[in-house]
Amino acid sequence: MIDIKIENKLKQNLKEVFGFDKFRGEQDKIIHSVVSGQNTFVIMPTGAGKSLCYQLPAITLDGTAVVISPLIALMKNQVDQMVAFGINAQFLNSTLNKSEMTRVKKDVLSGECKLLYIAPESLTKEDNLIFLKKAKLSFVAVDEAHCISEWGHDFRPEYRKIRSIIESIDINLPIIALTATATPKVQMDIKKNLDMDDSTLFKTSFNRANLYYEVRPKINPKKQLIQFVSQYKGKGGIVYCLSRKKVEEIASLLAVNGVKALPYHAGLDPDVRVKNQDAFLKGDCDVVCATIAFGMGIDKPDVRFVVHYDAPKSLEGYYQETGRAGRDGLDGTCLMFYAYDDILKLEKFNKDKTVVERENAKALLMEIVSYSTLGVCRRRQLLGYFGEYMDKDCGFCDNCKHKTRSFTVKDEVTLALNTLVATEERFPLQHIADLLTANTTKNDYIESHDHHKLKEFGAGLEFFKGDKVDFFKPNGKDDTEKEKFGPTDRWVSVLRQLMVYGIIEKDIENYGVVKISDTGRAFLKSPYEIEMRDDHDLSSAEGSRDDG
Ligand code: ADP
Ligand code: ZN
Repeated sequence: MIDIKIENKLKQNLKEVFGFDKFRGEQDKIIHSVVSGQNTFVIMPTGAGKSLCYQLPAITLDGTAVVISPLIALMKNQVDQMVAFGINAQFLNSTLNKSEMTRVKKDVLSGECKLLYIAPESLTKEDNLIFLKKAKLSFVAVDEAHCISEWGHDFRPEYRKIRSIIESIDINLPIIALTATATPKVQMDIKKNLDMDDSTLFKTSFNRANLYYEVRPKINPKKQLIQFVSQYKGKGGIVYCLSRKKVEEIASLLAVNGVKALPYHAGLDPDVRVKNQDAFLKGDCDVVCATIAFGMGIDKPDVRFVVHYDAPKSLEGYYQETGRAGRDGLDGTCLMFYAYDDILKLEKFNKDKTVVERENAKALLMEIVSYSTLGVCRRRQLLGYFGEYMDKDCGFCDNCKHKTRSFTVKDEVTLALNTLVATEERFPLQHIADLLTANTTKNDYIESHDHHKLKEFGAGLEFFKGDKVDFFKPNGKDDTEKEKFGPTDRWVSVLRQLMVYGIIEKDIENYGVVKISDTGRAFLKSPYEIEMRDDHDLSSAEGSRDDG
């Protein structure tokens, strides 16, 4: 229970400072949790109204709230917004000169500043720490909290230090962590790292029912793109490309083809960038071609499509980027052009990273391969990836509209789950598929763990025999290779589909390992038929052959 005075003040501030009549969704509960001093964990999609969840408590409580935010641009934006509401909010980062710094600190110490935005790098600086210890702080908000985990995208090592810094300032400071993207594994990392096992979790559905998801093999992408975009004359859209060069090229390509398109990326002159962004927001330009890094500033409600001309780096990123479509609630189409060559290209970018970083990045890329290849409802795949299971197909994605061949499995599932049991649920999905199909050519662990002595070893070869399936190996242009590894790929697909359906799940403690879920255990007790779908044959997708 919170003080009635604070309760009233919250309502009053909501209306008088922010101009909102009522709370949206769970904001009310979240804000109560924060003002009552509890650790709070908020996972809501972009645009849901997360900022208010710390801004309103900050201006209502005594003292200053510290907001940790990863990007200076983001920080400045937020501070400008707060100032426009008449709130004393400031930021502390490397862009300030000495006198500005002094003023900020003075305002915090006097209690006038209600929100202090700070980058994790600045937080670790000794004199900032000394200063923060002197200040009266109300709580700490950790924005973009997924940056704490190396298993997500956007990992920021400095985020790992946040907890120890907070402890050195005041061990009792409550924390509110916020993010728009977190797989179950990343969620656990956040809680662990911020030491907030006791926190109250607020998580809303990530489903964006008005967005149509589609993947097309990248065969002749320029032609494919022009054809797609020309259906949307006069409507707003975003085309994401991997490089600045490609952004420029595609923007001109569209312009030559009569589309009002402009480029948008970090390499442009700031003036030009602002001009192009404004043109897009005002509708003077229909299509913005952008690099992923620079999509953040684009906030337009009536974006009718988001195209990924090149494959994204992770499903997290993909979901964020596609989330910029249809903010007004009307339909939006999210189209990805996919070719395995693009995945290989992305992998090359990671060659200077550490081994661990490279493996993580590769694992994230493999999720894109799986998403593009599986014939299962795309929405079920996307939401399942974030730990949200749908019990029906969505009917509003390409895989639902144009179904690949279906087949039912039951004994196959029992066998797969028994194999997980026999190997103590300690191995990755690929290993299980290798084991089931006696595919030891690329897997030394089978013999080293004596898995070739299990009765499940090779037992998977008994299934799918009569199927005339084009076993598909991404870019396995060699037919003999296709034959040879065919059954393993089939099992990988089946296991992947079991994951989408929540029968097996990723072990959040051990990265890459798959486990049987509660649903899976129930299945073992009384098995039932499950409908599955053939993978897409994407072997004709050659990537950017026509555009160098
Ligand atoms: P997020 O941080 O979750 O991406 P924001 O905090 O930026 O979302 O909020 C998205 C938009 O919703 C903003 O324009 C904000 O002013 C508006 N908003 C937030 N809460 C409310 C509310 N209770 N009533 C009306 N509008 C709101
Ligand atoms: Zn669907």
